[in-house]
Amino acid sequence: MTIKKDLSDLPVSTPAEAEGWPPIPLEDQLATPIMEFWMEHRPNHREKAIPGTRFRGSDAGSCARALGYIDQNEPVTNPPTWADYYRMDLGTLVHNQVQAMAEQVWGDHVQVEVVTDYRPDINGSGHGDMAVRIVFDAPGDDGIVVIRRIHVEIKTVNGFKFRNMIGAGKAPAKGPGMSHVLQASLNARHDACDEMRLMYFSMENTGKYRQDGEDPHGMGLFTAEWAFNRTEIERFATLEAERVGDVFDQVDAGTFPDRNVLMDDGSIVTIEQPLRGLWVRHEDGFIVDNGKTWQCDYCRYRDRCIDDGPGQVPIPPDPSPE
Ligand code: SF4
Repeated sequence: MTIKKDLSDLPVSTPAEAEGWPPIPLEDQLATPIMEFWMEHRPNHREKAIPGTRFRGSDAGSCARALGYIDQNEPVTNPPTWADYYRMDLGTLVHNQVQAMAEQVWGDHVQVEVVTDYRPDINGSGHGDMAVRIVFDAPGDDGIVVIRRIHVEIKTVNGFKFRNMIGAGKAPAKGPGMSHVLQASLNARHDACDEMRLMYFSMENTGKYRQDGEDPHGMGLFTAEWAFNRTEIERFATLEAERVGDVFDQVDAGTFPDRNVLMDDGSIVTIEQPLRGLWVRHEDGFIVDNGKTWQCDYCRYRDRCIDDGPGQVPIPPDPSPE
């Protein structure tokens, strides 16, 4: 074949023993225009399920200060990177696949992306992932056919978190994340569900493998589920409704709330160092406990929060009043 053009100046990946085998520069990668297109066209997942409502269900469990900034539509100081969006969208792919398969499995008995109105509890709305209607065909002794409506929230997590949640190491199982429980509870309560499930998928196979024949397909390596009854749904939904209501009261009175965050045990702690996500728990004026939360690492307002400082802070006047 005749060589029509000298292409020897194009980047190559020839391994060089002394230098290892690094990838070609980002600007030469074919993935770069694909990612540019992806980021430009990915859907905006931050729209409210019911336009005009104040609180968005997937913000459940967020730190009180962050909820204040979101409510007042303050400018984002720490937007997600492409890496963040890439990870989020991988989760969305799994999420969408599970929903599509559920529709195949249950047909008319499943509703996906159920729009849920939280009013009058909270001026807010959300998208419940799935509501499954289970009909027990055989009537009971009283001749009544039982129908249960189960709310399902689908979540994806990294392998490390998944192992902690199911107790794959030496520590006891930590269970589902509190923010997920709160979000699901609000959706389940306002969709009048009898039961709620949190269905988790790990982004890597890392969980528990049972060799006793109980899990022949290795499902436990990547999926786990928790169930909640109506009493638990009410308890968690009330907890979050009151917390968000308190945030709105403070904002309406002209202040952004303190950096309070709800822990997995349901207690409230105060974040003292947003840069590192360090929190402390005070009792009678003494620090009795401390730790680190993941929330600050993912917060879109971290620089603003650091600038504003601790405690309740006044909301600055709107720079462009009518
Ligand atoms: S940086 Fe941390 S403390 Fe500050 S608003 Fe965000 S989550 Fe809350």
